[in-house]
Amino acid sequence: MAANFIRQIIEEDLKHNQTSGRVATRFPPEPNGYLHIGHAKSICLNFGLARDFEGQCHLRFDDTNPTKEDTEYVDSIIDTVRWLGFDWGSHLYYASDYFERCYAIAESLINRELAYVDSLSAEHIREYRGTLTSPGKNSPFRERSIADNLTLFRAMRAGTYQDGEHVLRLKIDMASPNMNLRDPIIYRIRHAAHWRTGNAWCIYPMYDYAHAISDALESITHSICTLEFEDHRPLYDWVIQHADIPSEPHQYEFSRLNLTFTMMSKRKLLDLVNQGHVSGWDDPRMPTLAGLKRRGYSPGSIRTFCERIGVSKAESLIDVTVLEDCLREDLNLNAPRRVAVLHPVKLIIDNYPEGMSEVCLAPNHPHYPEWGKRELLFTRELVIERDDFMQQPVKGFFRLTPGSEVRLRYAYVIRCTGFDVDPHTGELLTIHAEYLPETKSGTPGADTVKVKGNIHWLSPSQALKAEIRLFDRLFKDPNPGVLENYEQALNPDSLIVLKDSLVEPQLFNTQAGQSFQFERLGYFCLDEVDSQPHSPIFNRAVSLRDTWNNPKGK
Ligand code: ATP
Ligand code: MG
Repeated sequence: MAANFIRQIIEEDLKHNQTSGRVATRFPPEPNGYLHIGHAKSICLNFGLARDFEGQCHLRFDDTNPTKEDTEYVDSIIDTVRWLGFDWGSHLYYASDYFERCYAIAESLINRELAYVDSLSAEHIREYRGTLTSPGKNSPFRERSIADNLTLFRAMRAGTYQDGEHVLRLKIDMASPNMNLRDPIIYRIRHAAHWRTGNAWCIYPMYDYAHAISDALESITHSICTLEFEDHRPLYDWVIQHADIPSEPHQYEFSRLNLTFTMMSKRKLLDLVNQGHVSGWDDPRMPTLAGLKRRGYSPGSIRTFCERIGVSKAESLIDVTVLEDCLREDLNLNAPRRVAVLHPVKLIIDNYPEGMSEVCLAPNHPHYPEWGKRELLFTRELVIERDDFMQQPVKGFFRLTPGSEVRLRYAYVIRCTGFDVDPHTGELLTIHAEYLPETKSGTPGADTVKVKGNIHWLSPSQALKAEIRLFDRLFKDPNPGVLENYEQALNPDSLIVLKDSLVEPQLFNTQAGQSFQFERLGYFCLDEVDSQPHSPIFNRAVSLRDTWNNPKGK
């Protein structure tokens, strides 16, 4: 992993034996949504540091909020972290496993006059809290006796009170310039079943409290989180210091990942799903890792991306093309080549005998001869891409036009002799051509006829129909996350479905998740959700080049 400031801190700590030579990190998702590409940055950082320093990284579900969490999310998070290539070994934890410990520590804080039950309404608590420029004031309940506090807190746990009637607060300093230290709430009453603990609890600890205690209980050494928690660090340290657990984790913050044309808030992503703007959390246009996987992103390309963007404290908005380029680089090296014709138009080679066919050999990868070749059948009737032909060519168009010559990849040079259109609609029906018999690829002298265009083709006698899904960015606005109404920025053309495309037969034996380069068109993979054995669906992950910044590119 590349150098970054957190790495340097760990190196220093190890050098000065600050953590007894240990490195333990954790990735602490709240199971209230699917993981997204921003989480990948945190996962790669935490697991990467543990790997590089021969330490351990825990996967810990921060499941302290019973109403928003679900096992569907837990399962997908586990699958996704594994898919990304990381392993927590036996270190899978749940904050809810520590509820009893958190509770006991809370009683001990009460006993030391470091916590009290407050009975102000939520509104009054807010009012008493003060503002950034004015100090807060003490709650009239702040000086309750230890005995009263204990009785009340136990009754809170026993279910005597309704939601909101009381809270447990730390007794720190209502005048602190840091709002997080103005007697933060650490427990609230919530009569809600928890997906793991069921109805065992009706009081739940707040994140700042439970998180610090979880880190200490697991003997985490470096607790790495995003910058919005920087102001919470004094509270984190306070809890660690007073919790009486023989372990002293430290918190470090880095800036979160923001990507252009992408929204990263889980709440808004859930909204996209609920409003039906996408087909689900794993819609290939979503920035979720489940969506990227289904789109055709490889785990390696995402790890490369996280490596490339680095880790710092500077807020930034990364261009989404950086992510797309990481995938292109990966698949250019690793994806076998195949032929597909997305918008087929009929091409008849009039001087090629009817009923005759021959085999043309196409390499599976241009740089790896050891990957072998596959057979494409050449026949009198073929299909090519509709936009590889122009009746009246524009300047610079080197593909097929009346009278022009192009090479059909892996086969012959052909000369276009004419075309038929529908007399009523003007729609192109058939293109006619002659082949030049001496020009078959791979035979001596094949290159003597020089051509500028080189196009792909398929024989309908061999090719099979497939559905193709062309995805584009979900948003037209470079920063949809900050818009008041992101719906206005949705890209109406973010999904184009082609029903009449043809693909070479080898693609019918494809495994879900395997990616291919469709020559001249981009990188595609079999859709793992909607594909059927006899009606495959291919998703385009990315085009061959960035066509957004370079509209002419193809
Ligand atoms: P929520 O708004 O629900 O809290 P969250 O994105 O913070 O959403 P968590 O499940 O709490 O979600 O995140 C788990 C970890 O991933 C946290 O440590 C968080 O800091 C980190 N993380 C979340 N979003 C990003 C991001 N965009 N870039 C880097 N790290 C992130
Ligand atoms: Mg969070």
